[in-house]
Amino acid sequence: MMFTRRRRALGPLLIMAATSVLGCDCEGASSTATSSTATNVTETFSPSDETAVPEEPPTPPEDGAEIPEEVIAIDTHVDTPQRMLDGDDIASRVEGGHLDLPRMREGGLSGAFFSIFVNPNKYEGEVAWQRALALTAAVRKLTEDHPDVATLCTTADEVKAAARAGRAAILMGVEGAQAFGTDDPELTLSRLRELYALGNRYLTITWSTDNPLGHSSTGDHPNRGLTPLGRRVVREMNRLGMIVDVSHVSDQTFSDIMDITERPVFASHSSARALADHPRNMTDAMIRRVAANGGAVCVNYYSQFIDTSYRRRRRQVERQHRDEFAALDDAHENWVDRGAAKFRLANELSPSLAPPNLETLTAHFRHVVSLGGMNAACLGSDFDGVPELPLGLSDVSELGNLRTALEAADLRWAPIAGGNVLRVLDAQTTRAQRPETETGSPSDAPETTMR
Ligand SMILES: [Zn+2]
Repeated sequence: MMFTRRRRALGPLLIMAATSVLGCDCEGASSTATSSTATNVTETFSPSDETAVPEEPPTPPEDGAEIPEEVIAIDTHVDTPQRMLDGDDIASRVEGGHLDLPRMREGGLSGAFFSIFVNPNKYEGEVAWQRALALTAAVRKLTEDHPDVATLCTTADEVKAAARAGRAAILMGVEGAQAFGTDDPELTLSRLRELYALGNRYLTITWSTDNPLGHSSTGDHPNRGLTPLGRRVVREMNRLGMIVDVSHVSDQTFSDIMDITERPVFASHSSARALADHPRNMTDAMIRRVAANGGAVCVNYYSQFIDTSYRRRRRQVERQHRDEFAALDDAHENWVDRGAAKFRLANELSPSLAPPNLETLTAHFRHVVSLGGMNAACLGSDFDGVPELPLGLSDVSELGNLRTALEAADLRWAPIAGGNVLRVLDAQTTRAQRPETETGSPSDAPETTMR
């Protein structure tokens, strides 16, 4: 496939940009970035799809009209900011990748938390912090440049208002405390507040590696938990009204967080470990505990997280054809697109590979609901952060297929798509629940309006 990627100058932001930055969940993918899938893999990201995508925003309902609750669908984790910082203007349809605003409209996704993820394998110290700011600025710039189609949102009411106006609700969350670029406690807390003030409304305590706040499920010490600084940060997040995200953390870090949090948490992109035994997934006990806390588990769509037997088959094909896969490493600038090419190759080399499909993914939603009820599940795609997606869900434009599959399994779309996430977001700022700060009363909270 030959794509001409639409680019526009981002000025100083490009100073911090890096090409082909790995997203958040391509664990082991530094050498084996796999792919995005489609029902017909030869049609993945076909340029001819462009003609089918409406470029105009939907007609908004009359002023004051209520938005039917099933209209609101919020994805809690997309890694698209990495591509935005590389120059993709997602207000228009962009070739490759998983998400842009036209494809969000086509798939019925009204909003998403854009992930502010800084890869600790590439950036550290002050450079990491500057990249976190640059990613945040790139997301804000999208809404500033395209106010007719996208609105920066920090509350449930703002999300509903954006949906009512027919605009995409753009939210932000920080993935991993390595983004702070420091282990100094006071500087960490200060930078947490700064990212909050810029509009970020969650922090995933860890990414795939351990950090000064706690230990990761895939880090060097997965049996260890939250650090003393991590405890301070969780309490400060409770005070600010910032969602504590328990995806990626070790089981012990999860337990430590749940012992101290005074507000509902969510897992922004995690599937069920009982169905796919991977440390990134949530155990049944963890899912029950999040549900009991009033939180939600937003299911990750990544093929290799939702089907571990497929993961083994897929990796075996790559081991057997190392050179052919390596040849694709230089063929695509964007690693998500490189993954799509590798996925096609894997299926050509092994026609019996049997990748997971929407039925596989639906089973994870059904499992979460069976343990925690209909209020416990939500959408945590990891679009643009993983190299493979289930058959039938090649990008966000095909989200309607997931809705069809969930409803066929007697799962209700409205709470899973948006209601549960808006409830968790709302619960962060309910004054009655607002805890005392470690240094003063809630009224001492720093400036919380965006700037
Ligand atoms: Zn992640």
